[in-house]
Amino acid sequence: MAVSEKVRNFISQSSWIRKMFEEGNALKREYGADKVFDFSIGNPSVEPPLEFKKALREIAAQEAPGLHGYMPNAGYLETRKVVAQALSADHKVPLGADHIVMTCGAAGALNVIFKVLLEPGDEVLAPVPCFVEYKIYADNANGTAKFVRSKDDFSLDLDAIRDGITEKTKIVLINSPNNPTGKVYDAESIRGLASVLTEKSRAYGKEIYLASDEPYREIVYDGVTVPSVLAAYKNSIIASSYSKSLSLAGERIGYLAVNPDISDVEQVVGGMVLFNRTLGFVNAPALMQRVVARIHGVTVDVDEYRRKCKLLCDGLSAIGYEFIKPGGTFYLFPKAPGGDDIEFVRALQKKKILTVPGSGFGWPGNFRIAFCVDDATIVNSMMGFEETIREFRQ
Ligand code: PLP
Repeated sequence: MAVSEKVRNFISQSSWIRKMFEEGNALKREYGADKVFDFSIGNPSVEPPLEFKKALREIAAQEAPGLHGYMPNAGYLETRKVVAQALSADHKVPLGADHIVMTCGAAGALNVIFKVLLEPGDEVLAPVPCFVEYKIYADNANGTAKFVRSKDDFSLDLDAIRDGITEKTKIVLINSPNNPTGKVYDAESIRGLASVLTEKSRAYGKEIYLASDEPYREIVYDGVTVPSVLAAYKNSIIASSYSKSLSLAGERIGYLAVNPDISDVEQVVGGMVLFNRTLGFVNAPALMQRVVARIHGVTVDVDEYRRKCKLLCDGLSAIGYEFIKPGGTFYLFPKAPGGDDIEFVRALQKKKILTVPGSGFGWPGNFRIAFCVDDATIVNSMMGFEETIREFRQ
């Protein structure tokens, strides 16, 4: 067998989204794209804002020596200054350019964090449901991902986290707003999590780090805000990106923000800069760094996603689906009628509706609808959603 058993396992565990996406493409070829309702993949549907396009055009036209050469691996100083200043205001924590590393998206940022902090065999503890690739990122750094369940409303179960931390736990990883639930953890949960981590760090006589994966931070609805982990816990690091906030997922631009009070700050950042060039990617893309330095803080029109969210939630609740309304992201995670998420997703597929079973996020019994699609897809899918729930009620 050419491919190792571990890799074969990862492929089979992480294949749900890809599988649905590819089966969807086959359906589209057979029946035409307008007959298939593809809610499988979290690819932003709202176009990047005009400010982005303007900045990109202007910067691409610049003529100066060295614009396309190697750079400091942490990223351009100018860009890091802009990001540090904006984050300082947002989080009420004084960050400098030295606390920011520009990365190849949030995925690059997470891989760098894990590589720098994990000893072989160390554990990364994350609440489920969560983004399936965390397991592979932890393994990339010779660590192991461990999971604990969230509460039924998808809020953090602090007792489960406390019980899940062992002497091997080096990182607790959260994702808020959450993929796949849209849950935003409130300030009390973040404070509670910080005290669990402080208590457990003391009990085991070592530092336990809090990594917060926040690429959806800006995609929130109806006055919801995302509390700051930097303000709550000293050994904290943010991994974020412009993939969703500016719809730049293909441009691979993100950043790490390290708490200025983190233990051994210089070593931690030094390690991050090293691995930001040795993990297989070398610094974040130059052109995008220059663009985001101009427009950090600008976002896509979040109201578009809020409107789509309402359209979907109103439609599904009128025909009997049960779900918790998301505070942010572009995902809805309803209960699978009948209880078997895989069976239900297969039944939806027969109506050419593509979703992802909760089993793919460590949470069987629910399924994910990525509503970053055009309005017609939402509206025209309702008949299929209704026929399918009816089959499961009989
Ligand atoms: N974390 C979560 C929760 C995600 O949903 C995604 C992408 O969908 C990522 C990280 C990776 O983001 P990026 O494209 O910025 O690397």
